[in-house]
Amino acid sequence: MSDLIYMDKADTTSLLQEVLEALMPYQKGYFGSASSIYSIGRDATDAIGKAREQTARLLNAKYDEEIYFTSCGSESDNWAIIGACEARERKGRHIITTAVEHHAVLDTCKYMQQRGWDLTVLPVDSYGRITPEQVAEAIRPDTVLVSVMHANNEIGTIMPVEEIGALCADKGIHFHVDAVQTAGHIGVDVQKINCSSLAISAHKFHGPKGVGALYIKKGAVCRKYLHGGAQESNLRAGTHNVAGIVGLGKAAEIAMSEYESESVRIAALRDRLIAGIQSSIKDSRLNGDPANRLPNNVNFIFKGVEGESIILFLDMKGICASSGSACTSGSLDPSYVLMSIGLKHEEAHGSLRLTLGRESNNAHVDYVLAELPPIIERLRQMSPLYN
Ligand code: PLP
Repeated sequence: MSDLIYMDKADTTSLLQEVLEALMPYQKGYFGSASSIYSIGRDATDAIGKAREQTARLLNAKYDEEIYFTSCGSESDNWAIIGACEARERKGRHIITTAVEHHAVLDTCKYMQQRGWDLTVLPVDSYGRITPEQVAEAIRPDTVLVSVMHANNEIGTIMPVEEIGALCADKGIHFHVDAVQTAGHIGVDVQKINCSSLAISAHKFHGPKGVGALYIKKGAVCRKYLHGGAQESNLRAGTHNVAGIVGLGKAAEIAMSEYESESVRIAALRDRLIAGIQSSIKDSRLNGDPANRLPNNVNFIFKGVEGESIILFLDMKGICASSGSACTSGSLDPSYVLMSIGLKHEEAHGSLRLTLGRESNNAHVDYVLAELPPIIERLRQMSPLYN
């Protein structure tokens, strides 16, 4: 197979041609800034307004003023956590989150801890899930924020956010949801989740890189994040990335029209890939929840084999995948997500994550199922850890 098989969609996705066409005029011809009052500035303002509506529709936000544009999912998470805590510091200084959050959430919560907030990090079960009961037990009179991801980026486990949302709403606690891995892929409905804020990122659903959004429920206060100009209702200063925002809006519109059918198609490919790996490679184990799972996520460990070696061998066959271990990005730490679900240190180094998407098809799955077993076999023959 000569095509590149990109199975790292949880990392990033390609920019769609329609999205590129929608945003290009705002890179060049309509270069005006949305703060100016002459016509090309007004054009930019209108384009941002349309993108706000498109994004609100994807999330079922009631009002488009509940959508704030940011530079990425990480910024959205940072703003929600810091902004919600600072706005409530007189009420209390206790935060609850989970052990498997993305660093954009975990590190921001730890930053607040260094600033004097108390932090409870809830442990997850062997599938990577927490229960609403755990949250209920952890809530204290001074709890001001609960932050739980909608689905995990590494193992694809979906969290019971609706139940947690109901719990937090009942107690008047700000509930933040990191929906970076779910928006545009499965239904993300802020009314049903009953969250106070929710983070998304355009490049995860075929929009441009460097643009994200934060939903903040009307009435839920998040303190000003970037100081300077009056953009984004005077809460997040900085000249708008007009082209990026237009691209996010267009990607949201396309995702909205496709995700229901696409998630069914992609889940069928995922299930075939999982079943194929389980039947052809012995001593393999699926990580994450087999039922409450993102439609595009496949994550395995193979006894006695390092994740990085698998990635390099797959790359030689034209397959892009990733490993939970951070080694490939320059750190030797094992995956904290895999450690949290109870895997041993050496096992947490050995995962393979294959994430499917829009371009994935049956031929790609067949190709991976043909190429992966001999790679594992070969690596095991070289491995001192596998007998
Ligand atoms: N949250 C989750 C769950 C993610 O998977 C990611 C990126 O991988 C982020 C947040 C950060 O998003 P961004 O890359 O837009 O900063």
